Amino acid sequence: MTDAVRPLITGNWKMNGLTSSMAEFEAMLAGAGPLAAKADLLVCPPATLVGAFAAKARGGKVAVGAQDCHPKPSGAHTGDLSAEMFKDLGATAIIVGHSERRADHGETDALIRQKAEAVWRAGLTAIVCIGETREQRDAGKTLDICSTQLKGSLSDGSTAANLVVAYEPVWAIGTGLTPTTADVEEVHRFIRGVLTERFKAEGAKVRILYGGSVKPSNAAELMAVANVNGALVGGASLKASDFLAIAAGC
Ligand code: PEP
Repeated sequence: MTDAVRPLITGNWKMNGLTSSMAEFEAMLAGAGPLAAKADLLVCPPATLVGAFAAKARGGKVAVGAQDCHPKPSGAHTGDLSAEMFKDLGATAIIVGHSERRADHGETDALIRQKAEAVWRAGLTAIVCIGETREQRDAGKTLDICSTQLKGSLSDGSTAANLVVAYEPVWAIGTGLTPTTADVEEVHRFIRGVLTERFKAEGAKVRILYGGSVKPSNAAELMAVANVNGALVGGASLKASDFLAIAAGC
């Protein structure tokens, strides 16, 4: 990790985890102490576990977040959950615009922007995900896609405290494939440029995470790339030993 921005290692558990998963989370809490000097740690379990994890994490070195929220604070939206509800449970951050939600639920940049604003309304940090598909990369459109998604998903009120951007090439998520470090560097430099142009000094401090098949064996190399300020980790965040090893790579 070469930049002055403090790294953030975020685990996205997706639709994995039962009450019995508390033991794994406790192992993360137990091992996080020495890593806190290097990086912030955040775990986003499924909504069903956010309250229990947050209660267990109180006073510890791993924060707890959620994976999605509704734009509204409350109302007639059966099955949905608001940012305020997650705050009430002790969450500090919410992922919005993950490519799986964009694909599975047809989420648009405009909706993601509303969700990010909802996260801020609740006083939490929004982790806004962007990234290109394989077809888009092959067509040379990676930077265009990132530019469009950033423009559409980010609000004018973005600050280094309320926003984290996660660059996640869709083709790298859950596949074991990763871009070259040169490719990661190019995209992160581009994102940093977009952020500083729009948000000036704040944009220089917004954390830009890389996500997509991060594991203990490649974390240090990826985290050393300029403008990579941490990772969004899916599969490897389910095991405390892997998640902690990734954080150790910062
Ligand atoms: C993700 O879901 O955000 C992700 C990066 O998954 P994985 O680490 O499993 O590729």
